[in-house]
Amino acid sequence: MVDRSKIENAVRQILEAIGEDPDREGLVETPARVARMYEEITAGYSQEAREPLSRVFDAEGGRLVVERDIAFSSTCEHHLMPFFGKAHIAYVSDGKVVGLSKLARAVDIYAKRLQLQERMTAQIADSVFEELHAEGVMVIVEAEHTCMTARGVKKVGTKTVTTAVCGSLSAETQAQILCLCGEGRA
Ligand SMILES: [Zn+2]
Repeated sequence: MVDRSKIENAVRQILEAIGEDPDREGLVETPARVARMYEEITAGYSQEAREPLSRVFDAEGGRLVVERDIAFSSTCEHHLMPFFGKAHIAYVSDGKVVGLSKLARAVDIYAKRLQLQERMTAQIADSVFEELHAEGVMVIVEAEHTCMTARGVKKVGTKTVTTAVCGSLSAETQAQILCLCGEGRA
């Protein structure tokens, strides 16, 4: 799936470009390690997030379901640096619900690609909305971007919060969801 030797050559060139010796002991395995890492952090390209979400089961309609604190790690497409945090998925079901492990699996499939936090948030919301035929969906993602914290622009621990809403959720329901898992929570 991934052209490992191409990545290995590129990493070797980066090491040379920054004035390092790619043949010194500590670095000699680095290109191969980075190639294997890229295989893992981009594994989501070959997977379909809608597949785990198709494993729905019947439940009473009109019910608000909130699955909080789904941990993920993704890769920022602007800097190829990790961003990681938690996704919270809330939906009002129209008679179909899906297990937490399937939601977590869908989050992981979108996360294991080069991403923008905003786009990942919208993709999760769209897929849950469409596969569950939910009345409404709200997804909140809070993440720390190492491209910001590692370069000293922002302090370590700074969180970026993104939200996406699909379908119809009343203002009251949205406020309820935000209260359960949104900003301001300790
Ligand atoms: Zn970035």
